[in-house]
Amino acid sequence: MKILTSSEHAGRKAGLNDEPNISARYLYARFTALGYQPFYQSFEFKTGFFSTAKGHNVIATLPCSATQCDANIVITAHFDHLGGQPSSYYAGANDNASGTSTLLFLAQSLKLINRRHSVTFVATDAEENGLYGAKHFVNELDVNKRTILNINLDMLVPNKRNRLYVLHSKKTKSAVALLKQQPTESLRVKIVNSRYKMQRLMDNPRIDWHKASDHYAFAKENIPYLYFGIGEDKNHHTKRDTLESLDFSRFQLVVKFINNFMVELLDTPLEATN
Ligand SMILES: [Zn+2]
Repeated sequence: MKILTSSEHAGRKAGLNDEPNISARYLYARFTALGYQPFYQSFEFKTGFFSTAKGHNVIATLPCSATQCDANIVITAHFDHLGGQPSSYYAGANDNASGTSTLLFLAQSLKLINRRHSVTFVATDAEENGLYGAKHFVNELDVNKRTILNINLDMLVPNKRNRLYVLHSKKTKSAVALLKQQPTESLRVKIVNSRYKMQRLMDNPRIDWHKASDHYAFAKENIPYLYFGIGEDKNHHTKRDTLESLDFSRFQLVVKFINNFMVELLDTPLEATN
């Protein structure tokens, strides 16, 4: 998170040049160091009526450890943010260096366990511009892979309310059952099955959480999702979203919670239709 929020990364804005930016290259190097063979998935996205730019997802795949894989699970976290100048930039510590570093953490830990399912780790680009990286990824998805679930990580460091929301779509029954069994320690996990409930819990009808992040790209193609995030945050999209503003003991609880859940999930048979 220190590196992703540093001035060299200057707010990780998508599309400033055609090549993968310093943040994409950093993630590529991290996946490689963890023993993966990552690749860039490049795409064009609209920046105006007549202008386009290039974004670059960074993808790493983890095969199942069984002789035959049940299904494929895609874990997403967007690494892009709002940019700025090295002297003054949007660090995007919670949004979404937190999810991106959790993605790397999972890439490390899930290698070591029994897996009925294969996992695709996708650090998406150009989320802030309109979920473009996730949309491109879903469009290019190999139907033979039997992708039955998206786990989307976006803003994972709880504020004083100490809440973590998990918004889930339909057809996630067994995953949600597992989620409910996970120890939460002092974390207040709210498992929510509709955007309206989410709005009521946050007492804010303006945000449509179903569409708020990369999981929406999967939902549009009828791929079920679980979206992990802290919901509303007063520092969101301000220059105050910095490392210093975050409580790392709460973040640790979240990462532990998600990791425990993923370990169980990968060892559980899942049906696409449950
Ligand atoms: Zn975000």
